[in-house]
Amino acid sequence: MLRMEEARRADMDSDSANVTSLHRPLTDPFQRTISYLRVSVTDRCDFRCVYCMAEDMTFLPKREVLTLEELDRLCSVFVRRGVRKLRITGGEPLVRRDIMTLFRSLSRHLDTGALEELTVTTNGSQLGKHAADLAACGVKRVNVSLDTLDPDKFRKITRWGDLGQVIGGIDAAQRAGLKIKINAVALKGVNEDEFERLIEWSHGRGMDLTFIEVMPLGDIGPARIDQFLPLSVVRARLLDRYTLEDIDYATGGPARYVRIRETGGRPGFITPMTHNFCESCNRVRLTCTGVLYMCLGQEDAADLRSPLRASPDDRIVSAAIDRAILRKPRGHDFVISRRQAPASARHMSTTGG
Ligand code: SAM
Ligand code: SF4
Repeated sequence: MLRMEEARRADMDSDSANVTSLHRPLTDPFQRTISYLRVSVTDRCDFRCVYCMAEDMTFLPKREVLTLEELDRLCSVFVRRGVRKLRITGGEPLVRRDIMTLFRSLSRHLDTGALEELTVTTNGSQLGKHAADLAACGVKRVNVSLDTLDPDKFRKITRWGDLGQVIGGIDAAQRAGLKIKINAVALKGVNEDEFERLIEWSHGRGMDLTFIEVMPLGDIGPARIDQFLPLSVVRARLLDRYTLEDIDYATGGPARYVRIRETGGRPGFITPMTHNFCESCNRVRLTCTGVLYMCLGQEDAADLRSPLRASPDDRIVSAAIDRAILRKPRGHDFVISRRQAPASARHMSTTGG
């Protein structure tokens, strides 16, 4: 906490002296252009997934959290600096009060063409309520996190979630014309027997599916090593049943895709632990308190809230973004082991998935 306060002060001092162009693209020291911003709009959630949160989480006091107007202003500065894709995430983004105001306001950047895509990652619990509004705001694709199709298992994984409500949300989203990608975290001994069912169900409903490896983020109680299942195991298991063909298909994210010859389906694999995908990283992550993380797996971060609140002149916060991007590291170095503490004390719900 102290380090963050010091960083805030240091950043403030140099911000006033350092005003930059508002339209120059953001390029990091490894010549990667930053065109993708993920924004966690809240650290709160109506679920408590066992790999993501402890059951008794302490959430941020509301005064620390950026207002929807501040989030809009900050996102808009990133858009001016060349960000073409915005993903709204959390915590659970759709539980934030009046969140549709933010979507409505950000959609103006889609109208002008400055922004290519506005998307959301959600647990699906509130999609029934918001799907039609999201579509009206120009959202075309939604990522829904769903690790099992078994209602009891779903309750165990999410602790508080209701599978029926999430499926109802997915139904509503499809009715509203949203394209859906299901994200399933591979969990040892939990959903290992469901990979094929998840594939057949998703592809049968015209939805993409991506498997994700558990990452060592935040202290969640039980040891990570007990949850971790390398996706090489998932792949091997699918090979028992299907023929998998490597394909070049890419969506600009870290997933690698294969084609299942028998079904034509195209599951993706996100393998931060067993296959580092950092060399093509084009993204940064903003927390709901205005802290910018240049890498999901590293602690270095820049405070953007102070420069944002210090002046209505966007050049001040834009200069702070410039300095942050210059510190973007080459990549992460996650390790999961019994002896090692989490790679990062931050939960995934802080930085957003
Ligand atoms: N609440 C929303 C949801 O669940 O989709 C958005 C936020 S959630 C943090 C984003 C994604 O991160 C989800 O797909 C979730 O499964 C994934 N996730 C959370 N903790 C993780 C961890 N430790 N390792 C890998 N994925 C994780
Ligand atoms: Fe909530 Fe998403 Fe984390 Fe589950 S993964 S606890 S739904 S933020």
